[in-house]
Amino acid sequence: MKYIVANFKLNGDLQFIKNYAADLNLQVNKPTNMMIALPNVYLHLKKHFVKNSILIGAQNVSEYQKGAYTGEVSAKMLSDIGADFVIIGHSERRHVFGETNEQIAAKVKIALQNGLKVILCVGEQLEEKNKYRFVISEQLKTALKDVDLSNVIVAYEPVWAIGTGKVATTKDIIKVHDYIKQLVNKKFNYNVPVLYGGSVKPNNSAEILALSQVDGVLVGGASLNAEEFSKIYLSQF
Ligand code: PEP
Repeated sequence: MKYIVANFKLNGDLQFIKNYAADLNLQVNKPTNMMIALPNVYLHLKKHFVKNSILIGAQNVSEYQKGAYTGEVSAKMLSDIGADFVIIGHSERRHVFGETNEQIAAKVKIALQNGLKVILCVGEQLEEKNKYRFVISEQLKTALKDVDLSNVIVAYEPVWAIGTGKVATTKDIIKVHDYIKQLVNKKFNYNVPVLYGGSVKPNNSAEILALSQVDGVLVGGASLNAEEFSKIYLSQF
């Protein structure tokens, strides 16, 4: 079964998330490999997602353990409130908030130390398309150095495809996923799962999920509609 991951970003409120949980229609009463990244203040709503053993997680974490870092939320705090996982290095964190590969590496380490699974996002910007190998290998080598990879999932999200409606071609997805898998295998001797993210919708998810190189999808915009997200989940079968 493939990983189907939602990233709510700065969207939703208490009632929206409760309704969303009720409206998901996965047609089974069993575990689904679905993961939903909520805004931190709603992580306690995990109890509404137990029917399908959906994992609930955060969209970011502090690189620091504790201290004078106003506004930050630590990995221990996320773990205490019941988060199962955290997305680290999303392109909006990298390019809107200026996070560096080194900060992202620190976040990966501290999240894993506190028992959280990690979804590490990597991907090139439009102007870096010709040198995607260099960009992605720097991102991966820095973030995955000296960590136990058994709780890490990589998400390949070409920045130019996020929220733009532009989906990478299946040829490009295969090429980059193969590159990531081979690099991680060669450098760290581990077969890491790789998700694709970037304008995944119910009308293109089946084709993407059918690729053997794709272990799942990370969905932003279309994940905000329970019916659409359910369709994306069902399109893998
Ligand atoms: C994302 O935010 O990770 C993402 C892939 O967004 P969208 O599906 O809206 O392109």
